[in-house]
Amino acid sequence: MLESHPHDVLIIGAGGAGLRAAVAAVEAGRSVGVVCKSLLGKAHTVMAEGGMAASLGHVDDRDSWSTHFRDTMVGGRLLNNPRKAELHAREAPERVRELEYWGAVFDRTRDGRILQRPFGGHTYPRLAHVGDRTGLELIRTLQDRSVGVGVQTYQEVIITRLALSADGVCGAIGYRRVDGVPMAFPARTVILATGGALRSFTVTSNSWELSGDGYALAYRAGAELIDMEFVQFHPTGMVHPPGVRGLLVTEAVRGEGGILRNALGERFMWDYLPEDRRHEYAATDEEARAWVDALTEGRVTDLRRPPELSTRDNVARAIYTEVKEGRGSPHGGVFLDISYLPAERVRRKLPSMYDQFKELADVDITVGPMEVGPTAHYMMGGIRVVAETGATTVPGLYAAGEVAAGLHGSNRLGGNSLTDLLVFGRRAGEAASEAAAEAAPPDELPAGFVAESLDALAAPFDRTEGGDPNRLHAELQETMSSLVGIFRTEADLSAAIDRIDEYKARWQSLRVAGPRRFNPAWDLVFELRNMLTVSEAIARSALERTESRGAHSRLDHVGMRSEWDDRNVAVRRDGDAMLVSQTPTLELPAELRQYLASTTEAR
Ligand SMILES: Cc1cc2nc3c(=O)[nH]c(=O)nc-3n(C[C@H](O)[C@H](O)[C@H](O)COP(=O)(O)OP(=O)(O)OC[C@H]3O[C@@H](n4cnc5c(N)ncnc54)[C@H](O)[C@@H]3O)c2cc1C
Repeated sequence: MLESHPHDVLIIGAGGAGLRAAVAAVEAGRSVGVVCKSLLGKAHTVMAEGGMAASLGHVDDRDSWSTHFRDTMVGGRLLNNPRKAELHAREAPERVRELEYWGAVFDRTRDGRILQRPFGGHTYPRLAHVGDRTGLELIRTLQDRSVGVGVQTYQEVIITRLALSADGVCGAIGYRRVDGVPMAFPARTVILATGGALRSFTVTSNSWELSGDGYALAYRAGAELIDMEFVQFHPTGMVHPPGVRGLLVTEAVRGEGGILRNALGERFMWDYLPEDRRHEYAATDEEARAWVDALTEGRVTDLRRPPELSTRDNVARAIYTEVKEGRGSPHGGVFLDISYLPAERVRRKLPSMYDQFKELADVDITVGPMEVGPTAHYMMGGIRVVAETGATTVPGLYAAGEVAAGLHGSNRLGGNSLTDLLVFGRRAGEAASEAAAEAAPPDELPAGFVAESLDALAAPFDRTEGGDPNRLHAELQETMSSLVGIFRTEADLSAAIDRIDEYKARWQSLRVAGPRRFNPAWDLVFELRNMLTVSEAIARSALERTESRGAHSRLDHVGMRSEWDDRNVAVRRDGDAMLVSQTPTLELPAELRQYLASTTEAR
């Protein structure tokens, strides 16, 4: 029954990172296979709304790669890999122009260039966008391009294990969801482009595919994960009706002038601006309104941005605090209002948001406010990679996109992910191709590995009794949301680790009934194992970091501490145990240090 599909380069994931890597690898002359859990074009990237950050300087020509670099480092509180932040800022404009050349139709400035919108933490309007459907355009363009150059795709296939030889990774194995047939992919090199991991939280903006498979596959193969304590809670997800709780309300709403108010009608973000950054924001309602007017009229302005455009970690904590202190909206959020702008502009700039609220909540956002609250959104942490190549600490294994760590440090600026996919997807594709030229030709996967993997696939059906994967998933979500959420303490994190240990034991005896064909409970068994690994890594890393920085807030360790300024938390596997250690951050080279006003100020 086992199908085998050898390739030079195997790419797991068909989001922006996987497809951009695939184009690069085919153009380098390699045979490339791309595997994805859903259909081509359906990867989570398709949901990205607000835009992709690149210092094109079309709306404000004062922008430059070095300002983008600085914003990214400041946003990440200097825990970023500086070389990644530099390459990203330098290469993003070229990658965006390339996407346009390949057919992406961006919104336009009045003189016909790619339009850019403001976003939190970015000094200048920087996000190239297509209304609020930017991810759709990115995926559509890369999909056309990759099919055009001859990438071979394997859709609706779940990879469950990476294969290892004495020289490193030599392929992967999984099964086709459509019929349950096991599939082997011998390969000279493998790129993980599997996206994020936050289906382990109850309220999340993540699609069903994001169960952290890539993090766990890499971890089990011996790779190191870093920065796993940094989970981004996007400040604005839908809070009502219950069925859509967590669905993202793009930051573009605030980028276009959306105002946050509590139940008392107070514009509360004024009270939450960090003192050391307050000078970057408008001082009054009038200045904030004049900034929005300038934006609407397409004028360059020296006015400062509204307080709602503070970084995501800060806005999420502010909303959480307002609700906790009793000033929340009827459904446990706060109000986000864009209805003071002309209805035609709101519908044109935010078409998806208009439809989303109209259809799902029966709210017309051109007439009244939306109710919003924080939602688990993005993993800053991930697989440790070399900036230039995406090489992991395991030979033959590469990673790009959300699953790879380093670019964002302790907090990601909105819009930096989509250009991350393009810049580092391409780099990983090229590097994996080069390495594949030297690697041994793909053959069959090791026989013992295949036999073990097939047994593991069959095990949940073979058990006559055992637990229900859906129930275990719900319990894990509740644990992560209540004990490893926006605010953390030692007691909560320790309790979460104990519970995860118990869940890991229960995972061994999960049982699945029914056929192999499109059986979501069967999928969930393997996804749950990955979610448990990622959840443990998040909780253990969060316990280790005894300070608050970026997206990681410890109620028992308030504020940043200098001894953590140059430390990443790393985890790796040692038998069945997860080892946690502190590793030094990469040194900030002098030629890059000059772009930060001062490192103290940047922190
Ligand atoms: C609602 C929303 C809006 C966003 N808006 C923006 C924005 O405007 N700008 C921005 O910069 N960022 C945005 N982000 C973040 C950004 O969209 C993601 O970080 C990014 O798309 C991740 O891309 P990726 O290529 O790494 O992975 P994904 O696009 O998540 O793709 C992962 C791929 O891996 C496959 N896969 C996973 N596991 C397996 C497995 N075991 N076997 C086989 N295949 C597997 C999946 O099927 C999928 O094809 C947004 C995120 C959300 C949730």
